[in-house]
Amino acid sequence: MMCYHAGYGKYPATIDLRGNMREAYLDNSATTRCFPEVVELMNKIYLEEYGNPSSMHHKGVEAERQITEAKRTLAQILKVNEKNLIFTSCGTESDNIAIIGGAMANMRRGRHLITTNIEHPAVLESMKYLESQGFEVTYLPVDEFGIVSPDLVEQTVRDDTILVSVMHTNNEIGAVEPVREIAKRINAKNPSALFHVDAVQGFGKAQIYPKKWGIDLLSVSGHKIHAPKGTGFLYIGDKVKVKNLIFGGGQQGGMRSGTENVAGIAAMGLAAKMLYQDFDNSIDRLYGLREKFLDEIADIPDLRVNGPAGRKCAPHIISLTVPGVRAEVLLHALEERGVYVSSGSACASNKPHTSATLEAIKLPRAYLDNTIRISLSEMTTEEDIFQATSALHEIVPFLRKYTRH
Ligand code: PLP
Repeated sequence: MMCYHAGYGKYPATIDLRGNMREAYLDNSATTRCFPEVVELMNKIYLEEYGNPSSMHHKGVEAERQITEAKRTLAQILKVNEKNLIFTSCGTESDNIAIIGGAMANMRRGRHLITTNIEHPAVLESMKYLESQGFEVTYLPVDEFGIVSPDLVEQTVRDDTILVSVMHTNNEIGAVEPVREIAKRINAKNPSALFHVDAVQGFGKAQIYPKKWGIDLLSVSGHKIHAPKGTGFLYIGDKVKVKNLIFGGGQQGGMRSGTENVAGIAAMGLAAKMLYQDFDNSIDRLYGLREKFLDEIADIPDLRVNGPAGRKCAPHIISLTVPGVRAEVLLHALEERGVYVSSGSACASNKPHTSATLEAIKLPRAYLDNTIRISLSEMTTEEDIFQATSALHEIVPFLRKYTRH
């Protein structure tokens, strides 16, 4: 792209000769752009292989084949059996089936559930619903980096605990939870308690092996991994009892009735395959970009990066507190420079709220409203990083100057 605007020092220009603003999309934890290959495959399915997978004719068989192939790919990535995967419409649905369906199927053994207070609303609201139905829920605190202690989980598990839900990667600060260790502790204390992991932000950014690690239920969402919105899946381990929440034609073994979203399922399979094919290099590159971002803003005074440092944090999430600048103002100032980020967690950020995660890590009150989330993906480039950091260099001192104290 030919540019005339030199940008900030070494930073790239953001406007081309036609006056078009270059876009740096850094809100990938809210959603991602589909891989072009994924769109191509979906197009082919919508236009050519559009049969109903339940139909017995050739068109149905073609559609069924797409589902089988996606299932095989996803099962290979997680090192699980294909029969343990069901497709859903999103991460939220996967979380709801796992938690509500899991609790309902096991309520004869007890009515106690455990989760953390930094989970996504898809988990927390499911828990609240269960509380309204007479279940008891313990919400565990996290440390200053957003990590839940396996010791605390173990101490909290009781004989009547039927399900524990801990996320793999926190969507706001990128804290990666010790789910492998937590699985061990739950199993040692009460082997019949189910362990659910919300891996919506972790899948595609980490190697996760639910069967090997003793995780019973694992939720994934398609639109966070360059597949379209309206797609997701749930891993349900062998012998794990979950009650279905949707009733109908009995598709997917009766666990999730409704005609399958064939194009979306195939898209998820392909996107996952692309993300995991050169996995280590991709993740190293993402951590490199994250580092670069942090290095570039290191000389802006009084910034605070939330969550764990280095590789204890997810490679794609940066939670940045800019004291003296309201997140919403900063977000729109960045947007004017073509940079898209979110304030707190995007899934809830269209309504004013205080982030439970930021409160849980005891971020000083005054900073709760000063925090933005920058999130990267496989499609993020160095140019995106420089565009964003250049914009921050320009905007932050300016906005701070005009902030009344
Ligand atoms: N869980 C986590 C950790 C998330 O970050 C999100 C979405 O941001 C969800 C669940 C919900 O996923 P979906 O948007 O696919 O319903």
